[in-house]
Formats: sequence, C-alpha cells, structure tokens
Amino acid sequence: MLNHTLREADLKNKKVLVRVDYNVPLDPDGKIKDDTRIKETLPTLNYILEKGGSLILMSHLGRPKGKPDLKYSLRPAALHLEKLLNGKKVFFSEECVGEKTKTLSKQLNQGEVLLLENVRFHPGEERNDSSYAQELASLGDLFVNDAFGSAHRAHASTVGITQFLPSFAGFLLEKEVQVLSRLLENPAHPYFLILGGAKVSDKIGVLKQLIERIDQVIIGGGMAFTFLKAINYKIGASLVEEEQLLTVNQMLNLYPDKIKLPVDCVAAPSLKSPEQNRVIPLSKESSDIDSLQGLDIGPKTIDFFINLIRSQKPATIFWNGPMGVFELPEFSRGTFEVGKALAERAEQGGEVVVGGGDSISALKQLGLANKMTHLSTGGGASLEFLEGKSLPGITCLSGYKNVSSEHADPSYYST
Ligand code: AMP
Repeated sequence: MLNHTLREADLKNKKVLVRVDYNVPLDPDGKIKDDTRIKETLPTLNYILEKGGSLILMSHLGRPKGKPDLKYSLRPAALHLEKLLNGKKVFFSEECVGEKTKTLSKQLNQGEVLLLENVRFHPGEERNDSSYAQELASLGDLFVNDAFGSAHRAHASTVGITQFLPSFAGFLLEKEVQVLSRLLENPAHPYFLILGGAKVSDKIGVLKQLIERIDQVIIGGGMAFTFLKAINYKIGASLVEEEQLLTVNQMLNLYPDKIKLPVDCVAAPSLKSPEQNRVIPLSKESSDIDSLQGLDIGPKTIDFFINLIRSQKPATIFWNGPMGVFELPEFSRGTFEVGKALAERAEQGGEVVVGGGDSISALKQLGLANKMTHLSTGGGASLEFLEGKSLPGITCLSGYKNVSSEHADPSYYST
C-alpha cells in the first residue's frame, strides 16, 4: 500500500520536513506525562540524521482552533526530544511559518534539528489551505510523514504539503500500516476482536468490516449495554445508544455465535457513588439492575472472557476500548484482567495489537504495555484503517511517482 518509504529517499544534505505526532498528554505545569509518541519517532529521526539530513519537525498538540495558545505550545516537546536524542540541541521556532522560521530553517546545518511551533496555531492547518501548505513546504527539500495518529485527517501538514515536495512514509507510519493491513487482509486464526469503551458508534464500522473474518468478538464496556438492550435485556440506567439498536440487533441475529456479551456487571447508582457498587447478573427478566448503571464487567464475565482467550488460544487479537470505567479503581478490574490475559497470550506467541489511548493507558498502569505485539499510536486512525477506509495522509504518499530527492515537480504527481 505504501509506495514510497524513507529507505528510497536520498537524504544527504537535505532538509527533511517530518510530520510527527507529538500530541502528548501534558501536566497542568506543562510536563510531558507520557512520551511514547515522541519515542516512537526516534527510528525515523535517527535514520535521517545518520544519512546526512537535517530535521525540521512539525506537529499539532491539542485543539488550539487556528490561533496561538501557549498551553498547546510544543516547546516542552523540544526540550524532551533533546533528552531522547542524547543531549543533541533541538532548535525551536516560536511560529510554524513566517520570517523567523524561514531564517531558522535556512541556518539549519546538516545533522541539526528544528521543531516548529504547533501547526494548528495557524488557521490554514485544519482547512488544508494550499498556500499555508506551500509555505511549510518551502522550508525543506523533502517531506516525510511519520504521524500515523493524524493520517485520517486531510490537513495542510499531512496532505496539502505533499503537493509541493517529494513525499515519503516514515518508519512508524510504515510499521502501523504493515501491522494493521495484516489484521485486515491476512490474519492468522483464530482471530479475536475485543471491543469496549463508551460508544458503539465509534466501533460499529470496524465490527461490520471485520465480522466475516473474525472468529469471536468479545464486547464489554459501556457499548455492551446497547447490544444487551437490543436483545431485550434489562440494563437499568447504563449507557445506551438508541440509534444503534437496530444495527446491533441485526448483527446479533446474523452472527449469534460469534458475538460474546457480558453475563454480569458491576453497577452503581452513579459515577459519583462508586463505593455503592454491586455485582448484578444480567438477564431479560431480572430487575436487579433497576436504576443502576453498569460500570464494569462482573466477575462471571471476567472468567467467561478470560477462559475464551485462554482456551481457544487466539492467534490474532485486536483490542480497542476498556471493559469499564477503569479510571476508578472500583470499575477497573475487568479491563485489568483482560489486559493481563492478553499479555499472557502475546507471551505465548499470539499477535496482540492494541489501539486506543485508554486500553494502552490501562496496560501501562499494569506495566504490561511492552508485552504486546504492537500498540497503535493512532486510536481513531487505526479504527478507520480497519474499517477499510483509505486514510488521506497515507494515500497522498502513494501518488508520488518520482522518488528523486529534487524539489517536487508537479509532473511527478499522478493526479
Ligand atoms: P472510548 O473512547 O469509546 O473507547 O471510551 C473510553 C471511555 O469509556 C473510558 O473513559 C471509560 O471510562 C468509558 N467506559 C467504559 N465502560 C463504561 C461504562 N460501562 N459506562 C460508562 N463509561 C464507560
């Protein structure tokens, strides 16, 4: 799928504009809470430096809505990247485009690194504005996209810029595409899909796309209650997406043996009273759940799901979304137990791929993140990829015909 990866590029003495995804979680005092996304770009950055290029890095952070907002500044990322590059100076430009940035990029010598301020401080970014994209492109000789987490967005620094520069996929983007393509096209069986989290509507597309190819679907989290309601179970005041009931009901009728749902839950009157939690069996008749909200899968469901994972030994597993409100200890057990079972499976040789910030954060809390085969850096992008949609940040890299390192010539483009 990816035609032009970094290995094909001539990088010597080139200023390489790299779109990274440094949209990292920050503390209120601006400290980086989790640097995974920065670390994941190091293979691409080090490769470019080793091959004699210099780096001009671009990223977004948060949603500053097209104007400068210092709480979304990328300066902390520049300081952090210096540490990860063993003390190498990372120059920082306080604007993403403009005279100062032009000067800094002109002065950049071979082997040096410059990070631009948040590309979303400019209104042209999210509009995919062509003149803004051109201004960004004018700073470098080549473009490399290594921001898989932003690949589902057609923005100036991910898509527009490829109109003006020879464009390549970075190693992180390449790895994500390889792993997710295998899940979509050529998975080893048995193949399990484990879905959780709040919203059916975010995940129903993946379920529809993959259901024929998968052997089992395990559904937990808030989204399970829409499935249960669709077959007339009592769900009390648990989350429900009424507009999904029909679709979900059709899926359950078509694939009754594939889709596994919770048999009990941990419920409470509300998230504000977690200490009043109780285990409630789920059924069509029971009114025990009454006006309570189901906020985690219950102990019988945990055993049921874990036994499925252990006994059928899935060769491939994709997990997205927590089994409950794992942010609160009272409702975290289901997510943690499923996370542990998946780590076990990965250690025994299963291919376990995890997407979505919450599931990854739960694995990090357990110290099990590094046991997984692959953690996808893009929650939304990985779901859209598995839905079979083409992601604009990836398809635009395939369109470039000539991989020479000269400045782009419009005739090089297929469209
Ligand atoms: P998503 O972004 O759709 O994967 O949803 C993740 C969020 O779903 C997390 O913040 C969880 O707290 C929340 N969640 C998981 N299970 C439930 C539940 N049973 N009821 C309400 N929220 C839930």
